[in-house]
Amino acid sequence: MKLKEIIKAAHKFSKPFRITDGDKFRLKDIDPGDTLEYGSEDKPRAEQALQTGIEALAELQDMLYAQDKWAVLLIFQAMDAAGKDGAIKHVMSGVNPQGCQVYSFKAPTSEDLDHDFLWRCMKCLPERGRIGIFNRSYYEETLVVRVHEELLEKQKLPPKLVTKDIWKERFHDIRAFERYLSRNGVLIRKFFLHVSKGEQKKRFMERIDNPEKNWKFSSADCRERGFWNEYQDAYEDMIRQTSTDAAPWYVVPADNKWFTRLVVAGAVIDGLASLDLHYPKVGAAELKLLAEAKKTLNGGK
Ligand code: ATP
Ligand code: MG
Repeated sequence: MKLKEIIKAAHKFSKPFRITDGDKFRLKDIDPGDTLEYGSEDKPRAEQALQTGIEALAELQDMLYAQDKWAVLLIFQAMDAAGKDGAIKHVMSGVNPQGCQVYSFKAPTSEDLDHDFLWRCMKCLPERGRIGIFNRSYYEETLVVRVHEELLEKQKLPPKLVTKDIWKERFHDIRAFERYLSRNGVLIRKFFLHVSKGEQKKRFMERIDNPEKNWKFSSADCRERGFWNEYQDAYEDMIRQTSTDAAPWYVVPADNKWFTRLVVAGAVIDGLASLDLHYPKVGAAELKLLAEAKKTLNGGK
């Protein structure tokens, strides 16, 4: 398959899940079990398509790196066991590690809490020519911190700045920050892996029952499950408030991992294809230098 055709397929595949206008968005409109026209019997075909996509992604990343103008920031958010780690691992498996950086954002350190909430993420932004991946991000500031408001108290904010408008203000600041980045040549694509409560339970059970998966189990994750509805509301509001043309959210059905990966790969390819990527053209002076170098190499031993 030619790159052009792959790009077309990637666009078709990812578009249904792309949110650019938050006003109309409702989380209940996206079914976590959706697999578009693929049935479960089509899994091998989907895996083949993913492989083709991964190869195309590697080609596009090579141009991104060579051109050294754009940076790409991919943000992943989800409930536990939705498959963030697996999606990152599989979709990025073909890219050159030198051109890609992954950062996982856990609970903030005391040093982090001594700064504004974007600080620790800003330090990890990708350089031009690179793909940066945030496994969780500053969006946690409108998710876990919103669901557990006691975390906000630990943030050392001046009390008069903590009002009922704080979430609205955070969304406003995030939108402005992302607009700023996009105006500086950072392409942003954001992924919410949308898993159902039933599928999460199944995956937690597997972690308990399968000795090879025991290490993945965390009782803290089970505790967070108790706040399921609060998290769903926080995610919905986050997507409604921060979906923009420059930094769209993809709400990706996550009950079938093979499908999740296909949509994520499609969206990343579609994003890269929207940039004017090409290998840098060499000018007349450089061509002359290349010819001279060839001559020297041929003349030497
Ligand atoms: P995995 O479990 O696959 O290793 P993970 O992303 O779930 O990946 P954990 O160490 O289990 O990693 O969880 C990280 C925790 O840190 C999450 O519960 C998340 O909500 C929390 N966290 C991230 N950012 C913040 C923040 N700004 N404030 C408070 N808690 C945060
Ligand atoms: Mg976890």
